Amino acid sequence: MFAEVVLSKVSSEIDKIYHYAIPENLRGKIQVGHQVIVPFGRRQDVGYVVGFVKEAEVTRVKEIIKITSPCPLFGKEQVEFAKWLAYYYFSFFATALKLMLPPGQKPKELSSPQSRLKSPLSPPGIEGKEVKVAETNLRLTPEQQKALEAIKGVIDQGRSEKFLLCGVTGSGKTEVYLQAIAYLLTKGKNALVLVPEIALTPQLIQRFQERFPGLIAVLHSHMTLKQRNQAWLMIYQGETRVVLGTRSALFAPIKNLGLIVVDEEYEVSYKSEKSPRYHTREAALKWAEINKAVLILGSATPAVETYYLAESGFYRKLVLPQRIDQRPLPPVEIVDMRKEKDFLLSRRLREELKEVLAKGEQAILFVNRRGFFTLVICRRCGLVLECPKCSLSLTYLPGKGLVCFGCGYSVPSLVCPRCQGTELKYFGVGTQRIEKEVAEMFPSARILRWDRDAVSKSSSHEAFFSAFAQGKANVLIGTQMVIKGLDVAKVTLVGVVSADFALHLPDFRAAEHTFQLLTQAAGRAGRHHLPGKVIIQSFYPEHYALQAAAHHDYESFYQKEISYRKELNYPPFSKLICLLISGSDQDQVKKVAQELANFLKRREVQGLLGPVPAVIARRRGQWRYRILLKGKDLEEIRPALAETLAKIVVPKEIKVLVDVDPVNLL
Ligand SMILES: [Zn+2]
Ligand SMILES: [Zn+2]
Repeated sequence: MFAEVVLSKVSSEIDKIYHYAIPENLRGKIQVGHQVIVPFGRRQDVGYVVGFVKEAEVTRVKEIIKITSPCPLFGKEQVEFAKWLAYYYFSFFATALKLMLPPGQKPKELSSPQSRLKSPLSPPGIEGKEVKVAETNLRLTPEQQKALEAIKGVIDQGRSEKFLLCGVTGSGKTEVYLQAIAYLLTKGKNALVLVPEIALTPQLIQRFQERFPGLIAVLHSHMTLKQRNQAWLMIYQGETRVVLGTRSALFAPIKNLGLIVVDEEYEVSYKSEKSPRYHTREAALKWAEINKAVLILGSATPAVETYYLAESGFYRKLVLPQRIDQRPLPPVEIVDMRKEKDFLLSRRLREELKEVLAKGEQAILFVNRRGFFTLVICRRCGLVLECPKCSLSLTYLPGKGLVCFGCGYSVPSLVCPRCQGTELKYFGVGTQRIEKEVAEMFPSARILRWDRDAVSKSSSHEAFFSAFAQGKANVLIGTQMVIKGLDVAKVTLVGVVSADFALHLPDFRAAEHTFQLLTQAAGRAGRHHLPGKVIIQSFYPEHYALQAAAHHDYESFYQKEISYRKELNYPPFSKLICLLISGSDQDQVKKVAQELANFLKRREVQGLLGPVPAVIARRRGQWRYRILLKGKDLEEIRPALAETLAKIVVPKEIKVLVDVDPVNLL
């Protein structure tokens, strides 16, 4: 018997499984998941046991030196998961495997005697942590009941099933999750609930904690390393039964996993920006399959790809077409800004705002950009002021000068770098400009601006959320974070100051993103006893994404969108892999990109586009070129790409990044 070991170090030369002999004293002790010290070349290295084989690949096999973790850090399932992640997303196996390890733990710390890691006393289950589910007197709607019964039925049968829960905003998807989990726990299984970063509000955490007192572990990236490590240990030791977290919680060491929920599955933040560049939805699908668990994807605005798969029967569709308690969806009015004199706030939006303030209710104004002016041009020579390190225009922030949101570069002087002219012209609408406008128009309004500039100054998102929820402000102005997940009873007006921005992005998902944003924004209004209203300002009111959002009509949006996708052969009708080649020397980047493309072409890869400069052609001083590969399925592209990456020697100073199923083509 030999142990299969993966080295902790990551590089393309050692990205494989090595075989080691097991010394006498470790036989019967060593398990998959153990961290070990092994001889490698003339050195010793840290590695992880990922399996066992009867025959070794080489004749002269070295012996494992010692085990350095007090117990296995992962199981066979995690090994299978990491293998899939590495294969699917073109990452190193060790990189994928490290996602499963305790957060922030450096290999050598594990061997210290103070380590808190101990073997779990007993597997979690009915005999483990006692289940105390708080009683709820909430009456489900017939549709909620139907959805819940379908999920319970599958849990009873103990089989794996994939659901898409399509529910309009305010239709009570979370309640379905909660009751499904409560049922699951009585069967001795554990649950994982994934939500987008922005939606993991104190409100949501509290709701879960109240329902499952003492059984919840929360995991997200804003926790300190120590907090995350503690949560990891509690989960590992079976002290909690339900994990609620953002995308990295997917790798929590949950045993006996019976249900995975991915809420708002379309969210762009579900895609990892680091290798392996996994999409939480796709990875959760695989993880559910490995664990034979039930998967529930939930959304009011499913990704077009997801809905397509539901239509074709891959996902079982459950529908919540109405808000709870027969509350109506808010009426949406689109204001044609071409007919307005004031392009910041239309007459209709001002009227409604005035009324809301008079009635003592609350309003949310969504602005897509932060800052004050988002574009600055020199009057003398016509130069658009750009960041010297990025191909991004600079934003004007009062008190700070000109700022690049791509890299943080800022310059206090308002001078043209080309002609030294001091007469600049300012354009564009950011959150701070709307804040000033509303303050001037309604001097008595209590305004709260919630965007990244405001958050970095004060404590946290929680502070903003609770200030607004407690009514300390009556107008909330902000970027995306104000339209996702907020559920405040007195919000009766949502104003979308500019709805068009996303439509003009050079991305085939532009219409989808716009529709999702508008629907989510509209979803914040009138969620409780007070009826709500939504005003969308647009220069392009006839666009189908706006029209469908105004009518709360996902189906009509989908029908239009899917026909475009088919016509242009974009996902779900094709699969994409994006290669991003970057470096500080533009000519060199271009040359490497061209070499890669030529090599791929010789492998007869169909649907190769590029290389072309990326939309953001330069970022933090790095030039960026893009190659897009499009295929009927990934298997059509994969072999040629793998061969190309293995054979083309890329200079050290050039980075080649592989993004499978990219969500962002900028
Ligand atoms: Zn100038
Ligand atoms: Zn910059």
